Amino acid sequence: MLFDTHAHMDDRAFDLDREELLAAFPSQGVGLVMNPGCSLASSRNVDRLTRQYDYLYGAVGSHPDVADEVNEAVLEEYGMLCKQNPKIKAIGEIGLDYHYEDIPRDIQKQAFRAQMALAKELNLPVIVHEREAHEDGMKMVEDFPEVTGVFHCYSGSAEMAKWLVNRGWYIGFTGVLTFKNARKAVEVASAIPLERIVLETDCPYMAPEPFRGKRNDPGKLYRMAEKLAEIRGLTVEEVQRITTENGKRLYRI
Ligand SMILES: [Zn+2]
Repeated sequence: MLFDTHAHMDDRAFDLDREELLAAFPSQGVGLVMNPGCSLASSRNVDRLTRQYDYLYGAVGSHPDVADEVNEAVLEEYGMLCKQNPKIKAIGEIGLDYHYEDIPRDIQKQAFRAQMALAKELNLPVIVHEREAHEDGMKMVEDFPEVTGVFHCYSGSAEMAKWLVNRGWYIGFTGVLTFKNARKAVEVASAIPLERIVLETDCPYMAPEPFRGKRNDPGKLYRMAEKLAEIRGLTVEEVQRITTENGKRLYRI
């Protein structure tokens, strides 16, 4: 059984066949799915979806792309959703993305900090999206030693991954791991303890080979498990068992 630790099933890309896809997970070997929220609107949808499917868990949070929506009222609603729905297991996805910078860095940092504080208050793990913001991301981790979680779709160095693992964090790998030019991700996946690795699709994005560029879904997660098994010299069954346990430990399921 696989655990897709990061899947955006509430995304518009699934509007036409969401029910069909969600219902098919068990027959595809996907036993658990974590659906992070991307915004307040998305978090509300996640809250609803988790009530429909036993194996679907959720998180609430505002992605750095919409960091400017975060205010007291939004944080209060996230807190309420966490308290009312026991299947909301984390705050996320939150973080920093300096790739496009549509949202100024200061606003991103403010929203990230406020949501880290919420996770601390609620004693929940966080799902961090961090792209091209390694230094500020690590600074935030240092500022909240009580808060841990996962750096999803990890894009940093092996050295930074080890630094995070030593502080109690998990590292999430997407279909990037299967790309032909994935030297860096492969290096990280071989350098850190297996007990801290979780697998994710980040669907509808980041489809693994041989589906690269197509719409991704949790039914394609087996490709990441196959690749990790190859990198670590394990059987696919061992990788499935270990990464699923890791995901359950991460989200306290
Ligand atoms: Zn995501």
